[in-house]
Amino acid sequence: MTENKQLATLMIVEHDNQLLSVNTLRVLNAAAQIQQDGTSLPVTAFLVGYQCSAVLDVLKCTKGISKIIVANAPEHEHQLAENLSKLVAEVAKDYSHILAPASTFGKNLMPRVAALLDVGQLSDVCAIESLDTIIRPIYAGNALARVRSSDPIKVMTIRSTAFDAVMVSESPFIENIVTLDTVIAATQCEFVSQQKVKSERPELSAASVVVSGGRGLGSKENFALVEQLADKLGGAIGASRAAVDAGFVSNDLQVGQTGKIVAPQLYIAVGISGAIQHVAGMKGSKVIVAINSDPDAPIFEVADYGLVGDLFEIVPELLDKI
Ligand code: FAD
Repeated sequence: MTENKQLATLMIVEHDNQLLSVNTLRVLNAAAQIQQDGTSLPVTAFLVGYQCSAVLDVLKCTKGISKIIVANAPEHEHQLAENLSKLVAEVAKDYSHILAPASTFGKNLMPRVAALLDVGQLSDVCAIESLDTIIRPIYAGNALARVRSSDPIKVMTIRSTAFDAVMVSESPFIENIVTLDTVIAATQCEFVSQQKVKSERPELSAASVVVSGGRGLGSKENFALVEQLADKLGGAIGASRAAVDAGFVSNDLQVGQTGKIVAPQLYIAVGISGAIQHVAGMKGSKVIVAINSDPDAPIFEVADYGLVGDLFEIVPELLDKI
C-alpha cells in the first residue's frame, strides 16, 4: 500500500440496465472480506449504464455498500469495455481495491483497467486473506495459489461462485449517491447487435440445479433426455465441451475451464467422463451426481453419488420416479 492512499473498495456493478446481476451481490461479499483491523473497507458501487434506475433501486437496498456513483448516459448503454475501462480507471485512482466479477463482463473490462492504471491484475480470486493477499486457482483449479500484490491499487476479478450473495433488504437505506457527469464515448468501436438466447430455464451460472450432458449422449436428439431431467428438477442445462463440439447444444452452455464456472446445490453429470477441464468448472457444486457406464470414469472421483450404468436406462427411470 502507498502511504497516503485511502483504503476503500470500488465495485463495478454488472447489470443489463434493468436487472442487477447476482454476480455483483457475490462480489460484494468478497469486498466485505477486504478488511483493516477487522473492519471491512468502505465499498463504493460504480453503476455505469443508461436508464438503469431499476438497478439503482436495488443497489440502494443492498447491504455492504456505503456509497453509489452513477454514470448514466446513452454512451454507456452497452457498457463497451473499450470506453468503460477508461471511465473506471479515472474513478479508480481514489480507491485501493477495484473489484468486478470474473464473468465475461469482468474479464473483458478489468485487464484494460489494470493496464490503464499500470498495475497487475489478481484474476479469479476465490478467497481474500488480507489487504494485499488473495487465493486463486491455478492449473485448471488443481492447485490454489496465494498471491500477494504490492501494487498501490489492487485490480481483482472475483470468482463469484466462491462467495454467497449478500442480502438485499426490502426498503432502500443508502443515501450517499453521487452522479458522475463524465462521459467517455467509444471512438474506435461501436455496438452493433446482441443475440440473447431466451430460455424458460434458469440461467446456468446462477441455477441451484444443473443437469449437464456429455458425449455419452451420442446425439443432439438424445440430449433431450438431459433437458427433460433439468425441467423436472427446475434446473439449468449444461454440457461438456465434447457435447458442444459435437453440436448437441450451443457453446454458451459449456461448463468447465473454458466455459462457465458453476456451483449449484445439485449438479448431475450425464455421460460425462470428468476430464480435469470439465471438473474445474463444477467441482464447487454442493452435491454431485454422476451417471456413467464406465465405473472407472474420473467423474466418480468428485461425485457424491455415482450411478454406474447405461444412461439410456437410468435417465428414463429417474424421469419416471421424480
Ligand atoms: P468423453 O470424455 O468422451 O466422455 C464420455 C463419457 O460418456 C465416457 O466416460 C463414457 O463412459 C460415457 N458414456 C458413453 N456412453 C454412455 C452411456 N450409454 N451411458 C452412460 N455413460 C456413457 N471440457 C469441458 O467439458 N469443459 C471445458 O471447459 C473444457 N475446456 C478445455 C480446455 C482445454 C485447453 C482442453 C485441452 C480441453 C478442454 N475440455 C473441456 C475438454 C476435456 O478435456 C474433455 O475432452 C471433455 O470434457 C470430454 O467431454 P465428455 O466427458 O463429454 O466426453
